[in-house]
Amino acid sequence: MQSVAARPETVKPASSASTVAADGFGEAASGFEAASWKQLLAEAVRDAGELCRLLGLPDDLAREAKAAQGDFPLLVPRGFVARMRPGDAGDPLLRQVLPVAAEVKPQPGYSPDPLAEQGRLTAAGLVQKYSGRALLLAAAGCAVNCRYCFRRSFPYSDSGVHRAGLAEAVAAIAADASLEEVILSGGDPLLLDDDRLGELVGQLDAIPHLTRLRLHTRLPIVLPERVTGRLVEVLADSRLTAVVVVHANHAAELDASVAAAMQRLAAGGTMLFNQAVLLAGVNDSAEALAALSRRLLDCRVTPYYLHLLDRVEGAAHFAVEEPQAVALHEALKRRLPGYAVPRLVREIPGEPSKTWIGLDRLASFA
Ligand code: SF4
Repeated sequence: MQSVAARPETVKPASSASTVAADGFGEAASGFEAASWKQLLAEAVRDAGELCRLLGLPDDLAREAKAAQGDFPLLVPRGFVARMRPGDAGDPLLRQVLPVAAEVKPQPGYSPDPLAEQGRLTAAGLVQKYSGRALLLAAAGCAVNCRYCFRRSFPYSDSGVHRAGLAEAVAAIAADASLEEVILSGGDPLLLDDDRLGELVGQLDAIPHLTRLRLHTRLPIVLPERVTGRLVEVLADSRLTAVVVVHANHAAELDASVAAAMQRLAAGGTMLFNQAVLLAGVNDSAEALAALSRRLLDCRVTPYYLHLLDRVEGAAHFAVEEPQAVALHEALKRRLPGYAVPRLVREIPGEPSKTWIGLDRLASFA
């Protein structure tokens, strides 16, 4: 979900419980578990002053955050805040969610739509980038607003999500026999509640040419309570091979509650992968990246991609240049078994697949 969600008219990858409900995705909770994660989402921190107070940080950071957040507001669940180090303004989890003044400085080469997705968005809310796969924007919100998100300016209101529910998208997928896999993305598709998600999975299940269902989600990381027993059942009961790609960037994100959520999904037979983004000041050291991979494996999650930052406006201060990224990746290869080393990639608009970044590519620039 990096290459991973206010609203109805100018929707950003931001949400509040009230806006989620207003979007029509938050149907009545069907049980205690559902009520619980929705309640936690409703109680997420949305005010920089409160976040700084909770962490014992100075008020001037909160003032800076309020001035910088623009129309992509601070949003972070309290369970995620609890994993941050009190009194540390450089905490790697805090840096991912706290707006800073650098976001509003001019950033040549950075744009609102760095992957040129908006031109490839169909009326039904599908983005078709890759052969055999369709990416469905199943929900317009997220449980956290990551400051480096490449969809932070995405016009979800034009995506079809709000207009026709998901019926148009399902019909378009059914009509295209070249598709074998559907990727649910957003926003975060796990903002759909279990009943709604179960209905959608059932509809996709009935399309004979589909074989796999993939979810790109950060909810199990920032709000692991979302991994309900019913969610595990929905994925386990589908004839489609279920693949969940989570998004964690630092080992400290993966506490015991996240490990338990991953265990529940794995026990249900879901394949688990992680995609991370290489972020300056968050995980741009071999030690941090190795610790992330080790912790992911402890949680039964395969490290899959390490993305170079997509050049979205407001995120330039997170950029790690390619030579440094390649050196870090090489260091990772020396420290870890091969299966624990994620592929270092950059997404280049118009390319038929992600571009692998390595020593050979660096040499071609020399
Ligand atoms: S979880 Fe973060 S990175 Fe993923 S879509 Fe939402 S805001 Fe973007």
